[in-house]
Amino acid sequence: CFISFEGIDGAGKTTQVELLYRKLMDVGFSVVAVREPGSTPLSEKIRELLLDVRNQDISSSAESFLYAAARSQLVAEIIKPALDAGKVVIADRYVDSTIAYQGYGRGMDIEFLKRLNLLATGGLMPCLTILLDLPPEEGIARRGELPLDRLEREGIGFHRAVREGYLTLSRSEPDRIMVVDARLQVEDVHEQILKRVLERLRR
Ligand code: C5P
Ligand code: MG
Repeated sequence: CFISFEGIDGAGKTTQVELLYRKLMDVGFSVVAVREPGSTPLSEKIRELLLDVRNQDISSSAESFLYAAARSQLVAEIIKPALDAGKVVIADRYVDSTIAYQGYGRGMDIEFLKRLNLLATGGLMPCLTILLDLPPEEGIARRGELPLDRLEREGIGFHRAVREGYLTLSRSEPDRIMVVDARLQVEDVHEQILKRVLERLRR
């Protein structure tokens, strides 16, 4: 089973991926966790390009192709082989990030992006997606004073559009996308996710 985590920056995806990964390993599942963009040598190089604050001139379509390239390599090199071997795969971001960021955030054509995702993944979709929903003001407050990457420098309006995009997606695919209130305590968020994941894995 393939599980993806989505949400704006600061929603707690990385923390929740880690908690879920450890818990599933503890109860005996064989689990692989990946992050997007990244997790293969090529995809990590693409990640560096995408997050580099010096790359301000990158166009929305070039940006979309770079995320798609990183994803394509990740599916071929790690996700697909792991699923074929019967492992559980947990991804920190996947195809919905493209629709939310490049589609709702940057205003690129959603149908084009869906086709791009299809080409990059060969149609491989998560059986369950956890959307950690958070007002962007809180996401910004949580990430603190660290040096910001290229996307974190975007204004609040961009992050609002991304959040609304995710919520729109969740309404169109309620069976796949579970929305969790990311303002709750870390442990409570984890409990909600774990319950749903175990239900899904026992099916
Ligand atoms: O923080 P994270 O590890 O998720 O880093 C990925 C960065 O790329 C984030 O700042 C996120 O906003 C951005 N992103 C994006 N479009 C995507 C996926 C991620 O702008 N399709
Ligand atoms: Mg980030």
